Amino acid sequence: MKIGVLALQGAFVEHEKLLHSLGARAVEVRLPPHLDAIDALIIPGGESTTIGKLAVAFNLLEPLRAFAVQKPVWGTCAGMIMLAKDIGRDQPLIGVMDMTIERNAFGRQVDSFEVELDVPVLGPPPFHAVFIRAPRVTRVGEGVEVLARLDDGSIVAVRQGHWLATAFHPELTSDARFHRYFLREVAGLPLRQAAEHV
Ligand code: GLN
Repeated sequence: MKIGVLALQGAFVEHEKLLHSLGARAVEVRLPPHLDAIDALIIPGGESTTIGKLAVAFNLLEPLRAFAVQKPVWGTCAGMIMLAKDIGRDQPLIGVMDMTIERNAFGRQVDSFEVELDVPVLGPPPFHAVFIRAPRVTRVGEGVEVLARLDDGSIVAVRQGHWLATAFHPELTSDARFHRYFLREVAGLPLRQAAEHV
């Protein structure tokens, strides 16, 4: 099983480490042919405008869209922005998930914060969620399942069929539950027995 990690900019190495801990092979995706060899794709956090510009420069945006239509994709933070259909401004997006996103939704004063987040699909205990200049979801379309909200009601994790999006950075913790959830539940990929208990 090979999982691609979009490696144009941002926190892709951290995702690769967590994938390895689950016994999955991580493949860095920088050019369109790299998409041919993978079963699912993770788009990391970083800066969505930069990721979008580089994707256009490398002729990756259309291939990414075509991949997403067929195969499982998970976006974290900037990756969540890349997956959204509507972010209220014009910048290159993959644009497949029926949701509206507000970028940098938590303001300059609260640049980053960490919370213990209840995520029912992961079960207890709460997930230690790291938010860095994070977006939030302000509208979900039909078929978009809300997986987690902050105490103020902000939607920060969603799933639409084979697409997953989180406003925070599960790759910056050592908790592999979100990666396992993506691989096993969203992508339907078999994990090695040993990885079930990581
Ligand atoms: N603020 C960034 C953006 O708008 C996302 C931040 C992140 O990925 N940590 O793209």
